[in-house]
Amino acid sequence: MTEVRRSEVARTRAWVLEAPGSDLVLTEVALSPPGPGQVLVRIRATGVCASDVHVLDGRLPKPMPFVPGHEAAGEVVAVGTGVDDLDPGAHVVLSILPRCGTCAACAAGRANHCAWAADLAGTGTLDGIHTGWHLPDGRPLHHFNGVSSFAAHVVAPRSGVVEIDPGLAFSRAALLGCAVATGVGAVRNAARVAVGDTVAVIGCGGVGLNVIQGARMAGAHRIVAVDVDPATLALAERLGATDVVDAAHQDVRTVVPQLVAGGVDHAFDAIGRPSALEDAFAITAAGGAAIAVGLYATDDRITLDAFPLIGERRLVGTYLGGVDPHVDVPALARDALSGRLELDALIMERSFEELPAAIADLRAGRTLARQVLVLA
Ligand SMILES: [Zn+2]
Ligand SMILES: [Zn+2]
Repeated sequence: MTEVRRSEVARTRAWVLEAPGSDLVLTEVALSPPGPGQVLVRIRATGVCASDVHVLDGRLPKPMPFVPGHEAAGEVVAVGTGVDDLDPGAHVVLSILPRCGTCAACAAGRANHCAWAADLAGTGTLDGIHTGWHLPDGRPLHHFNGVSSFAAHVVAPRSGVVEIDPGLAFSRAALLGCAVATGVGAVRNAARVAVGDTVAVIGCGGVGLNVIQGARMAGAHRIVAVDVDPATLALAERLGATDVVDAAHQDVRTVVPQLVAGGVDHAFDAIGRPSALEDAFAITAAGGAAIAVGLYATDDRITLDAFPLIGERRLVGTYLGGVDPHVDVPALARDALSGRLELDALIMERSFEELPAAIADLRAGRTLARQVLVLA
């Protein structure tokens, strides 16, 4: 094991957000060595997700200054005291779901709602107090749920670091931290899609395409992909969609119940837009469920017809697909290595320095699937 003294401070580069609405600035920052129970990770690939844009816009409030990025893979550089199960050089995926293991949620087996992790997310720290890095002027930089991967190196809690098979390329592995975990996890844990079920997916971005893949792997009989972009719908078909609906020209609430008589067993909102969740509920068959996969703003509201509830329809919430990262991420890595889970088609690689352009393209809807920044 490599242990690093706390007094040693290294320098690294990070994209820093000073305030919502301002531009990200690539800055040299000072990084403390990993403390007890922490791991220093060299980031090798990090995906650009709509949730990052929510933070940039202030729709997901975070303490500032702040380093966004929450979907990443890298390699272990050093570990702090008490970390005896990870070696330097190990390939890892970072998870926004660290855990204490002892709070009520953890004890109940619902570690993705860990109270300690919620405190870290709210305070932007690694342990409730320290952030592990600071700006040249001495101000502490805040964390994105213990990941903050728009940086060349990061210190993360051990419980948010998941070792994976080193055979999987970093740019593919990064997606397992958010888009794939959220999409496939929503199918397996929230919806529990079974062989022969029918599914609709509204919004076929990085998460929605993985809902489609999850439904295909679960043996869904019909998978209806809904999006406004023809190229995206073509990719959705390649990944398992049996039917496509061009929402730019077709009414979802009319067309989906025509394609699948009576509606679908599972309708996913993979956008995180209230109107998409309302559409999902409206196309759900009796006994089925609408699953809210996207991340909504804190002031979003939905309006639903009450009468269809007599058909025992359900509205289901999920957070990061309800996954246990330490179980599900290595399993998804094995699925990817075996070819069962397709990742190559989902990825557009860009350089670390291209982050502002990647965000602009994401905002404008100019990109298919997921942009992944690759660090040499
Ligand atoms: Zn994300
Ligand atoms: Zn806990």
